Parts: sequence; structure tokens; C-alpha cells
Amino acid sequence: MILNERPIPIPLLQREALLRRLPKTHSRYHDIEKELINWKTGYSGEKNVDYYLSYLPDDQYRIMNDLRLKNKNTFQIDTLIMSQIFGLVLEIKNITGTLFFDQNTNGVIRRYKEIEEGISNPLTQAKRHRSQLMQWNLAHKLKPIPIEYLVVFSRNSTILKTNPGNEHIFKHMIYAENLEEKVAQISEKYQNPLLKGRALTQACDYLLSQRIPSYPDILKTYSIPKSDIRPGVPCPKCQALPMIRVSAAWYCSICKTYSKNAHLIAVKDFFLLMNVPLTVRDFQGFLIIEQRGVAKYLLHTLHLPADGNSKRAAQYFLPPDCILSLF
Ligand SMILES: [Zn+2]
Repeated sequence: MILNERPIPIPLLQREALLRRLPKTHSRYHDIEKELINWKTGYSGEKNVDYYLSYLPDDQYRIMNDLRLKNKNTFQIDTLIMSQIFGLVLEIKNITGTLFFDQNTNGVIRRYKEIEEGISNPLTQAKRHRSQLMQWNLAHKLKPIPIEYLVVFSRNSTILKTNPGNEHIFKHMIYAENLEEKVAQISEKYQNPLLKGRALTQACDYLLSQRIPSYPDILKTYSIPKSDIRPGVPCPKCQALPMIRVSAAWYCSICKTYSKNAHLIAVKDFFLLMNVPLTVRDFQGFLIIEQRGVAKYLLHTLHLPADGNSKRAAQYFLPPDCILSLF
């Protein structure tokens, strides 16, 4: 049973928002474009694995996606499968080409189109996430259960190689389509149900309640000053900035489109990029609205949670989890 759908990663949405609001001539434009492709590739690999996860028997397995927890540092598990008997940490990879796992250096070399590059070792990542989860369980006094780990390659075209004699490492790596069989195989190793009755549901509820949302300061990541970000409401049809507010709608002077709710994407962009709460003044400035009364009214219609007192302007928030459901 899938307990939470995999969300579109915030860093992916942030890069899309950046590209909407930077001129193509900006010095970081191409870096952001490249990294957006990597995020999209990773996400589509994870979605592909979700398809195979949906085949696991609902009565035996609980599936949690994108589980970000905190010990001393935060760590993020792509997928955690829990049963009454064991837990399984999945590290999902969507990689094109051939991977060579070097026994001597513990490094991984990726070869694609005659180009070789070192990449971080997904087995090391998966193992680290497992031990971080075990530490977390201990710190939160959860009933200990055995925890396994697997690297899941979302496409069968990823070719895996290692030194002769080191092939045992492949028992912790699979292609997504073999997931169901592998999980059944792992479950045969264990007999004792440790999380009986409601204990499994309670453990999963607790894990989900302790998630830490990830909200990177993306402008800082790329050293982009706020003043480089072009304000305005983007046209939903031709993406031109800014639309003009005319008689209770937005109008694009380039493609002559009208829209009632084109401002929603601008509000989303504000939260994705600026990392601060929104005030009426920010809203008016970022959406380029001439009259404060109109800005106030439009902001009010969004029903965002607010915090304010008589001494300073109200501040509006968008909890990260809501960013997709709200709009
Ligand atoms: Zn337009």
C-alpha cells in the first residue's frame, strides 16, 4: 500500500521557476537548464519505479516515498518499504550507459558515448541511508526491525560491471522490473513478525509525521541576486512577462490572451525563489499590480495562512507541502 505519493521535487520546481524569470543571456541560465534536466531524469526514474512498487501486495507492505528525516544531519530516502517483519531502503537511479563498480577504489565510473566520469557510488549511498535510518529508529525508540537496502536502476539499459570475483555486490542491485520478485526473496530470509497488530501502521504514521521538508535557498545556491529575478505574471499561453491587470483579469499584450488566474503561478514562483514570507507589498511588487487595493483583494482570495499584528504588516506563508495541492 502506497502511503504517500511521490511529490515533484522542490529543487526541480525551483529550477523551472528560475528559468521562467531569468533572461536567456543570464550567466547561470545554461547551468540551471542542465541541472533541471538531471532533476527531471531522476524524477522520471522514480516515477517508473513507482509503477513496479504498486504491484507489491497491499496487505503486506507499506510504501513511503521521499522520506526526509533528521538525525544530526538530514537524510533522504527515495523509498522505504515496511512490513511487519523487515524494512527495505531503496536508492533509485536513472542512469544511461555502463557503470563500473571498482572494487579497489570503491568508486563508480560511468561510461556513456565514449566519455568516462566518476559518479558517487549508489551502493554506498543506500548503505549510508540504511544506517542513518537505524540510528534514527534507535533515537526515536522505535521497535528495532531488520533493515535491508537495495539500489534500483529504473531502466534495464543501464549496464552494470565490476571486477572479477566482486560480483556479490550485485545482490544489492536490481532493475526496477525485478522489484516484486526481489522483495519476495528478501522476505523469505525473515520469519518473525515484529510489528504485530497496529504496530506497523503506528510506526509508519510516526515516520511520516517526522518528515522534514526540504526548501533550499535556490538563489544562494546559484549566487543570483534577487534583483536578477524578473517580476510579473507570466502568460500561460506564450510565457511572456509581465501580463497586465485589466478589469479583473490578466492580459498578455504579446499574444492577446486573457486569464483569470494567471497570478497563481507567480505566487508559486515567489515562494519557490524568495525564501521569505509574502506581504501585500511583496505581492504588489512581484506581480506588478498598480493599485494596492487590488493586490490586497487578490492576495486575500488565495486564503494563505497568515501571521501578523498591529505593529507590522501581515505575513503570508505557503507550507512547502501545500505548494502543489494549493495550485
Ligand atoms: Zn502571451
